[in-house]
Amino acid sequence: MKLDELINGIQTLGITGHVRPDGDCIGSTLGLYNYVKDNYPEIDVTLYLEEAKDGFSYMSRIDEIVHEMREEDKTAVKDLFIICDCSTLDRIEPFAEVYEHAKKRACIDHHVSNLGDFADVNEVKPEASSTCEVLYELLDESRISKAVAECLYTGIVHDTGVFKYSSTSGRTMAIAGKLMDLGIDFNDIIDNSFYKKSYVQNQILGRALLESVLFYDGKCIFSCIDEPTMKFYNVTGKDLGGVIEQLRLTDGVEVAIFLYQTGADEFKVSLRSKKYIDCATIAMAQGGGGHKRAAGFTAYGKAVEIVNRISDSLSLQFKEYEKTSKEGTLD
Ligand code: AMP
Ligand code: MN
Ligand code: MN
Repeated sequence: MKLDELINGIQTLGITGHVRPDGDCIGSTLGLYNYVKDNYPEIDVTLYLEEAKDGFSYMSRIDEIVHEMREEDKTAVKDLFIICDCSTLDRIEPFAEVYEHAKKRACIDHHVSNLGDFADVNEVKPEASSTCEVLYELLDESRISKAVAECLYTGIVHDTGVFKYSSTSGRTMAIAGKLMDLGIDFNDIIDNSFYKKSYVQNQILGRALLESVLFYDGKCIFSCIDEPTMKFYNVTGKDLGGVIEQLRLTDGVEVAIFLYQTGADEFKVSLRSKKYIDCATIAMAQGGGGHKRAAGFTAYGKAVEIVNRISDSLSLQFKEYEKTSKEGTLD
């Protein structure tokens, strides 16, 4: 499929991504928005997305994003609504009503947990590093501006952890290379949107690492930041982005679990693995989703109870892996 076929003849287009947008979510939605603005000036396009963390201000037209639903938005998008980087409809919750009113709906995504069945057109490529990579393939290369390239490059950088996660392929690198050829400032994009941390972000990262606990023979690491701690440092979930990655990097660890509190007895859970634990399966069993090596879900109860809830499926996966690797050594 090409985007051109999808949007041919439409007058109104709505775009959204998932709640708590990350780099790939903002990169793909804003990349698509800029591409349509650049190449289809006759289309009335609106991008609906929650506010992202700081650090993305270099992206063109970021100030045009609608962060909160206005009454007139509910019926504004009549023709086509495109959802990017989102595997289930419950994750577009703030803007679900706009989606309901659109005649045609499309989804562009790369989550394994996306069954590819909720929209009319589903462009879901689980093997792709990022939604930005999937989107790139739908665009006409010769009509990609520097502004669009900055957005797509950002998404690829974020979802590959700067080109190092197992989802990074030769094709990912080739696309990133083509985007670089458009003259983007890739050093600044990587530093400012990915690595840069404010003082309090560093402090809370330190706190999460300090209080982390190893279990399962050092193969699992767990940490949790509760609401009083977040209040003390005056941070929100957006400030906790790098914590799970640092936990995952711990020597000997296969899987990292990080929780932060989002309400009374409510937590956002992130899972990351290195080589063999399938995080998506664990997250999906808890009503969430994601990818093999990175997944998440929202959970209710006390932090310890939540970890206990997933420990059975974790230990099952560990045992299976130990069994198959032992069988392997007998050969
Ligand atoms: P996170 O730990 O929030 O960075 O999420 C890791 C990956 O899992 C991302 O690709 C998310 O889009 C996905 N993910 C996280 N939470 C959920 C959820 N509740 N439902 C579906 N996918 C999720
Ligand atoms: Mn995402
Ligand atoms: Mn993504």
